[in-house]
Amino acid sequence: MAAGVGSHPVDWELAGGVRVRSTGWAQGDLAGSGPTVDARRRAVVDLPWTILQQVHGARVVIAEGPGGASGEAADGAVTTATGAAIAVLTADCAPVALASPEGVLGVAHAGWRGLRAGVIESTVQAMRRLGATKVEAVLGPCIHPCCYPFGEDDLAGMASRLGPQVRSVDSGGRPALDLPAGVRSALHAAGATFVGDASVCTSCSGGHWSWRSDQTPRRQATVVWRP
Ligand SMILES: [Zn+2]
Repeated sequence: MAAGVGSHPVDWELAGGVRVRSTGWAQGDLAGSGPTVDARRRAVVDLPWTILQQVHGARVVIAEGPGGASGEAADGAVTTATGAAIAVLTADCAPVALASPEGVLGVAHAGWRGLRAGVIESTVQAMRRLGATKVEAVLGPCIHPCCYPFGEDDLAGMASRLGPQVRSVDSGGRPALDLPAGVRSALHAAGATFVGDASVCTSCSGGHWSWRSDQTPRRQATVVWRP
């Protein structure tokens, strides 16, 4: 059988020896709890995971050690701990992984509400408070404008917050939000350097879960860790 899109996780190595891995269907549903999902997570990254209770806000928590801050109501996590795997679960929202040469790691879950609320900037600021100077960032699989028609009022609000580059059109020519462009804009505003993009639309790639496509409760993950 030929390998389809998303058969393999997408991997990056960032500043400070930080590793990033984004999953898809092939790695299984990583939402929920219990031994089955724990085993799937460990198969992706064999370390204790920090999983947040994601609420589409801008709160960022510090994982003091492996598995730290799990279950906190927040959309960003940062750590300096070796062996801590900090993760976000997504199905269309943007997973953003961050790292600095000082060994400070971050991860953010940014849907349009979180992006507007400033979760990406807040995550970079939290990293700087832990000693990060130069910050690198990558974007995992998320919904792209092809599949993200957006109401004109909300689109105008996003454009005034993040710049006109977030305005796009979907595959049917309707006004659409360019979520990856919004992520790049927020990273630029926070002084972070954008160094990688999975360049995958979760809705039409055929390898990822998409809330917009089918209201699924299943989720892929983007995990950040320093071995
Ligand atoms: Zn698409």
